[in-house]
Amino acid sequence: MQPAADTNPSRHSLEIRGISKAYGRFPALKNVSLQARDKEFLALLGPSGSGKTTLLRVLAGLETPDEGEVRFDDEDFLALPVRRRRVGMVFQHYALFRHMTVAQNIAFGLNVRPRAERPAKSEIADRVQHLLSLVQLEGLDKRFPAQLSGGQRQRVALARALAIEPRMLLLDEPFGALDAQVRRDLRRWLRELHDRAGVTTVFVTHDQEEALDLADRVAILKDGELVQLGAPNELYEAPANPFVYDFLGAACRLPGVVEDGRLRVADWETAAPKDAPQGPVEVFFRPDEVAFAPIDGAGLAAEVRGAAARGPKVRIDCIIEGRTMELEAHSRDAPPGVAPGLAVRIKPLRPRVYAAEG
Ligand code: ADP
Ligand code: MG
Repeated sequence: MQPAADTNPSRHSLEIRGISKAYGRFPALKNVSLQARDKEFLALLGPSGSGKTTLLRVLAGLETPDEGEVRFDDEDFLALPVRRRRVGMVFQHYALFRHMTVAQNIAFGLNVRPRAERPAKSEIADRVQHLLSLVQLEGLDKRFPAQLSGGQRQRVALARALAIEPRMLLLDEPFGALDAQVRRDLRRWLRELHDRAGVTTVFVTHDQEEALDLADRVAILKDGELVQLGAPNELYEAPANPFVYDFLGAACRLPGVVEDGRLRVADWETAAPKDAPQGPVEVFFRPDEVAFAPIDGAGLAAEVRGAAARGPKVRIDCIIEGRTMELEAHSRDAPPGVAPGLAVRIKPLRPRVYAAEG
């Protein structure tokens, strides 16, 4: 079920309305509307080429949309010159100035202000120290970017983005170039930083785990269109369509039929989910959300092709309705004597049902 639309404008800080943008004849964004609340952490999630960077560039003022409107704190954001938007940006490839120290990099956005708006030297120095401690890089102010690790460079880039006291923080796959462990560490750290800095954040990623882990809400984009917007749990519990289901995790799928409140898949029948469409459907389930039953029980008839223990879990490869599926069970829930050739029944515990296409 879709969550009720969030229509209370007073709680919105960022309102993106009907944004379209084409490069030549190629539509990169098609009528995208979404909102972020004040100080919310919003993730834009989608495969490569879905328009995430284009949307971020529109917000930053680096790209002009063909249609649509952006309001921020009830101002016409697109009418503001870039400098007045006060957005902080961090890209995937750290764009630190190599010939500047960490401190000079962080101070850059303040030092380039016209004199009348530039804080005093001592104030800038204080702010740099404060930001260094915020990103946990105290003592590294005199280093050059080449003397830092990739993770440290991205933290400097974040400090630099925060130095201008942005009203909005725009992050475009900021951890994309880092290895998996550093990414995970920085993820937690970034969320804490966001909470402490108290700034509306739009974070672009193609990594669903990163988005679901970090964000208050996630906007899923596909081919330049918004497909679904919701809290991580809402998305996971109720993916709006097969694309979202697939994108959020491993999926098994089988054709079925819904009739009179019953769902039939091959020779298995169960109560249809409440919101299920009538008629021919595609049935989706997660490979680790299944129960195993003896072959004379109820469920989808399956033949085990292989089983491999992975710590406390067992991966069980099965053939169901002619399709190979890689299922996963806790070892205590695996069928007794699981081995190639064993005939079992599989009961999807939380099937999701979508109208069959075509
Ligand atoms: P994402 O960040 O989700 O990978 P982008 O916003 O970068 O996607 O790009 C969306 C689509 O627009 C892609 O198909 C891309 O090739 C195209 N595109 C992006 N920038 C340009 C450009 N400057 N000129 C032409 N096409 C572009
Ligand atoms: Mg991109």
